[in-house]
Amino acid sequence: MRVVERRAVVGGAAVTEEFLPGFRNSTASYTVSLLHPRVIRDLRLTERGLRIVQRPFSNFLPLPDGRFLKFGGDAALSRTEVAKFSARDARELSTYYARLDRLANLLKRWVLAAPPNLGGPFVVQGWRDALAAARLLWHFGRLPPQGQRDLIEVFTKSAGDWLDATFEAAPLKAVLGWDAVVGNYASPYATGSAYVLLHHCIGEVNGQPGLWGHPIGGMGRITELMAQEARARGVRIDLAAPVAKVLVERGRAVGVLLENGEEIRARAVAANVNPKLLYQRLLDRSVLPQRFAEAIGRYRCGSGSFRINVALSELPDFACLPGTQPQPHHASGILFAPSLAYMDRAWRDAEDDGFAHAPIVEMLIPSVVDETLAPRGAHVASLFCQQFKPEADWDALKERAVQAIFDVVQQYCPNFRRALLGWRAWSPRDLEREFGLIGGDIFHGQLSLDQLFSLRPLFGYANYRGPLAGLYHCGSGAHPGGGVTGAPGHNAARQIVRDLA
Ligand SMILES: Cc1cc2nc3c(=O)[nH]c(=O)nc-3n(C[C@H](O)[C@H](O)[C@H](O)COP(=O)(O)OP(=O)(O)OC[C@H]3O[C@@H](n4cnc5c(N)ncnc54)[C@H](O)[C@@H]3O)c2cc1C
Repeated sequence: MRVVERRAVVGGAAVTEEFLPGFRNSTASYTVSLLHPRVIRDLRLTERGLRIVQRPFSNFLPLPDGRFLKFGGDAALSRTEVAKFSARDARELSTYYARLDRLANLLKRWVLAAPPNLGGPFVVQGWRDALAAARLLWHFGRLPPQGQRDLIEVFTKSAGDWLDATFEAAPLKAVLGWDAVVGNYASPYATGSAYVLLHHCIGEVNGQPGLWGHPIGGMGRITELMAQEARARGVRIDLAAPVAKVLVERGRAVGVLLENGEEIRARAVAANVNPKLLYQRLLDRSVLPQRFAEAIGRYRCGSGSFRINVALSELPDFACLPGTQPQPHHASGILFAPSLAYMDRAWRDAEDDGFAHAPIVEMLIPSVVDETLAPRGAHVASLFCQQFKPEADWDALKERAVQAIFDVVQQYCPNFRRALLGWRAWSPRDLEREFGLIGGDIFHGQLSLDQLFSLRPLFGYANYRGPLAGLYHCGSGAHPGGGVTGAPGHNAARQIVRDLA
């Protein structure tokens, strides 16, 4: 088996790289939760040395009025913290989580399963799909009425409407609603955003559901260990080896042609690039069924995410919780977006001007728990920022966007600009250039109802096979979608093994 990767480093959007002399950090993805325990086990990642540190609490939300919210991970702490803003919301929390967990548990059962493939003579395509559809109905039927209502609402409602129906405190709704705008270029009041929220709640860290953590060595450590295991099992991995074309003979994919002219022939080709990149750049339209080619042209991509890595001489000193010595809030996900209204405004601004005047920023400071990333005493931070219009002119706007993001952090941490030693930034355009993420889409295609589950990437192609025999989808453009999960690869591998048997 051979893996060919365009970049000089293995790992795709889960890599750790030096961005300033002496300072390393995860380049794109920056925090782990969705990586499936089965994938960790199968690829022996723990035995090979993977260590994931969970956050002391999930999120820290500094507020413009000098207050703050520490939230998630620890139920008692969350209740006490939320009670500062609303006693009623604090009481509601456990019911909310019971409802969310019920949905997350249902979704988890489908992460490593192919969804029913639609479009056959009896709605589904084959007996496996019929079984999957029956299993789906059975799962749905076993939910209590409130669970069924929640499931329907999560696919059809906005996160904002969902949260407004349950809670009253703006900071709490912000910290929960953040998950709905991650990689989702939309208002938290956009229909369907409730699913994106749920998508970020189906993971775990070290067996603890719903948590997020930091892999020691950065996200690249995960893929480095996957590569080690693959090599040990005889896989050859070629780096700096871009594919120019997928080779097709008589309607079947028979290998790839590299840009250096080398032809690699294979019984099966598995592509983890964005489906749009695969079918529009690596294949000629003439080899595709016309309706498929048109449909892939309409496949929607574009996350509106902007990513910066910064090197800092000292830790951010929060006006609301002062100190530059490590404290638990420095090791959590720090969210600069105090309300859903702020997030909605960020999207509206981006629609008008390319990016928000006050962007949504999450900051993680992995060097607080990982000494492999920065020189002693100094730090690295990941800034993951949302609502940057995918199709704006990023070569012209990038520097101004960086300064707008820094202004947001500076507003809460007065020492931030003084502590800045350097940075590297990736606009949506840079994410496309560097990683092949079309429209900068961090999930290889929007996680909207029409592009999920049996419809991912397209109606009739949810079984990890495209329209060409021998060509498989093994990346985030296939079910269950984006995130460092390992799941599409697992599911595609099962399909390939079955087909080649
Ligand atoms: C900025 C950002 C932040 C994110 N944050 C998180 C996070 O914190 N947690 C999380 O779980 N997920 C996060 N994600 C999402 C997650 O990283 C992706 O969903 C995941 O990496 C997708 O994996 P993949 O294997 O499908 O594709 P990718 O990781 O995108 O890998 C595709 C690979 O194909 C290569 N390639 C492209 N063209 C060619 C070619 N012609 N020839 C050969 N190779 C080619 C690319 O170089 C790349 O290595 C983030 C993504 C981004 C971009």
